[in-house]
Formats: sequence, C-alpha cells, structure tokens
Amino acid sequence: MIIFPAGESRVDAIASRLDQFQCLLFLDIDGVLNPYGGPGGGPGPDAIDTEMVAHLNHILQNTNAGIVVSSGWRVSHSAIRAMAKAGIDQWHTRFLGVTPSLPNYTGDHSAVRWKEIQKWLQRNHWEGRFAVLDDMGLISEHPAFFQTEEEVGLTREIADQVVKHLQT
Ligand SMILES: [Mg+2]
Repeated sequence: MIIFPAGESRVDAIASRLDQFQCLLFLDIDGVLNPYGGPGGGPGPDAIDTEMVAHLNHILQNTNAGIVVSSGWRVSHSAIRAMAKAGIDQWHTRFLGVTPSLPNYTGDHSAVRWKEIQKWLQRNHWEGRFAVLDDMGLISEHPAFFQTEEEVGLTREIADQVVKHLQT
C-alpha cells in the first residue's frame, strides 16, 4: 500500500514518480494482453497471455515507460492484482495508476476511453511522449494510438511500432 505524506495529494505523489519515466503507456487488457477466444479462454485479467506479456516487456525494456491502466478492468482490484502477477517487467515500479472514469452519456465507449486518457494526461501535467494500446478504435489517425486485433492481441510487430514511436 502506498502511504502519502501529510498534505501531499495523489497527483503530487504521482508527479514525483513520473520524473523517472521517459514516456507513458496507456494499457488496455482484453484484446491486448489476452486474445478473445485464445487458449487462456479470455477475455479477462486471469487469461493474460505470456506471449503478449513478452511483447509488452519488449516495449517496456526498450523505452523505460511508466504504465497507466486504461482498461475497463481498472476498477477491479483483483484485475490489478492479476496484472501484478503476470510477469510484466518492473510492474511495481512502472504502475502509476488508472485513468479516471468519466460519465458515458452517448454510449460511445471508445470516445469516452480516449477522453479518460486525455483527462489523466491533463491532471498529471504530462507533456511528454505516450502511447495507447487498445483493441477498440479509440481515435483514428493519432500517432500515439496503436490498435490491436481483439482475436490476436499484442503482436511483436505492433510492439516494435510502439517502441519506434516512443523512442522518437
Ligand atoms: Mg480491450
């Protein structure tokens, strides 16, 4: 458990940790770290696929990225615990939190998820590089957005593209 010093807000606490990262990765779970209909019987955080974790670790080890979970599973403590046990490179150091939950008036989950990511960036005053991995089409033609196929999940090819984006 993280104990914040008296008078320090959560945003300030994250800010002090943000300094150690060169870039950020907003991470979805279903369709990214587990394929729908995959051998793990996904989706769900308990079905996280070791091959996809290896591709994620390729990104992390080549970019020094902090992680913000943007998946719908972010509200589930057991899902976050499952991620902590999934073999993600330096999870306890990299995990910075989750995106806020904004009201969804239109029923457009993709648009709201993108707004939640923008909100996190704004709240935490992050103006550096970031990438977003999701199997939903959150936004079209944004250089930071990388879409996986829900039945395939994260591939080495997409991981390489993310590394390239985060390194430039
Ligand atoms: Mg998904």
